[in-house]
Amino acid sequence: MDERIDIKNLDRNELKGLVRQFGKEDYRARQIIHWIYHENVDSYAKMTNLSKKLRDLLQKTSRMDCPALAAVQTSRDGSQKFLFVLDDGESIESVLIPDKGRRTLCISTQAGCSLGCRFCLTGQRRFSRNLSTSEILGQILAVQRMSKNRSLTNIVFMGMGEPLANFKNTLKALEIMNYDDGLRFSKRRITLSTVGLIPEIEKLGQSSQRCRLAVSLNATNCETRTFLMPVNRQYPLEDLLDACRRFPLAPRERITFEYVLIKGMNDSDEDAKRLPRLLQGIRAKLNLIPYNESPLLPFERASEGRILAFQQALLQKNLTAIIRRSRGADISAACGQLRGEFRI
Ligand code: SF4
Repeated sequence: MDERIDIKNLDRNELKGLVRQFGKEDYRARQIIHWIYHENVDSYAKMTNLSKKLRDLLQKTSRMDCPALAAVQTSRDGSQKFLFVLDDGESIESVLIPDKGRRTLCISTQAGCSLGCRFCLTGQRRFSRNLSTSEILGQILAVQRMSKNRSLTNIVFMGMGEPLANFKNTLKALEIMNYDDGLRFSKRRITLSTVGLIPEIEKLGQSSQRCRLAVSLNATNCETRTFLMPVNRQYPLEDLLDACRRFPLAPRERITFEYVLIKGMNDSDEDAKRLPRLLQGIRAKLNLIPYNESPLLPFERASEGRILAFQQALLQKNLTAIIRRSRGADISAACGQLRGEFRI
């Protein structure tokens, strides 16, 4: 077991503290951030504007490797799924989705998930643990490295796990992703999706908010939502939407609500009528996601006719409602299909 500290767990101030311990100036921390996140080098030896002595000290006391890539699968539609194996043997997945000028990486924040949403394969896997800040950031660096100069444009926290259930490490990763001498992702290029942990949504709103918020809604009444998403017992629909009403937004910014359309479950005309009423007073847009069926789960995708009728009903009420066709379904990389178990 490597006993050294993991340098990607350190924010800028902590990094300054580390270089000060070596008797070095604060600006060295900025240089190290630049090498790790902007240049994406894989060893201290390549940090050529640091003295040999400092590089040796860093090497001796800290590690900078990324999670080990165990397998890659490529979909017919060009998206790619990456399986990473962590130091303790846990496995996680990330998905790269190229789309016109965009290259979006969907990253994981936990190994497994404890929230047990019934339509999600990750939720059927046992929860193992939270990922460290370094393991969250390491997915981005490893995929960037593999992509050879084709930079990622967007990051979505929609992989395995609930990011707000790993609040501290997720928030720190967001902060480091924003550094202008590092990865340089601006707030509007990062989206964090949550099932609706109200206290953490509030804490995120009170922080300097380094991402856009998406909320996984999936039902228009408490009964259905509790059935699909047991977390609704703890944080009921109306309370969640009130928290969204209070969430501070920049001018023209909106909260995205994700709505997975499941046949006979949440795709009725009544659901489509209730949605605009529920979202009143929230600057919202809706992503309608046709359910990705799995032989391991008992649900079916809403019919094409239903999906279009559902969208139409929302558009007539002046709601922005976009049908999001999932990518990578043939390699189980689509929304709700990640299990951290695939092999090639
Ligand atoms: S949808 Fe998200 S929160 Fe729900 S079980 Fe799946 S990974 Fe966990």
